This record gives sequence, C-alpha cells and structure tokens, in this order.
Amino acid sequence: MNLSPAMQRYLDYIQQLEAQGTRLVEFPCPACAEGILTPAAAPCEVIDTLTDCPYCGTLFLMISESDRARGMLM
Ligand SMILES: [Zn+2]
Repeated sequence: MNLSPAMQRYLDYIQQLEAQGTRLVEFPCPACAEGILTPAAAPCEVIDTLTDCPYCGTLFLMISESDRARGMLM
C-alpha cells in the first residue's frame, strides 16, 4: 500500500496512542466524511485544535470532548 506521509504519521500516532491505552473517539471528516480517530478529552474538558485530515488534507477545526469529537470547516 502506498501511503501519503500525512497518512503514515496519522497511523503511527494512532498506533502509539492505542499502545498506551489512550481512549480514542472517532468522528467524520467535515470535508470527506472519512472516520478520523483522535484522543478523547478528559471529562468536562474540551480540546479544540487545528488539524488536517489524513485522508483528504483539508485543514479544519477539531473539537474533542470526553465522549465525542467533531470537525468544523473554517
Ligand atoms: Zn477528509
């Protein structure tokens, strides 16, 4: 399989998080709707960060909460 550098980084990152037992949540990319995994925030915490989709490369705002995450196009 020929993976893009961004996808390879993403997969390495997810694999590392899973190895550490980090809780992950999945949400659809706001541009291409592919499922993206991200670390869940601690209870009552909200993490918002700019990120780019490993599938389509679109830059978007990701909002991660303890039990869900979502992406917003800017
Ligand atoms: Zn995408």
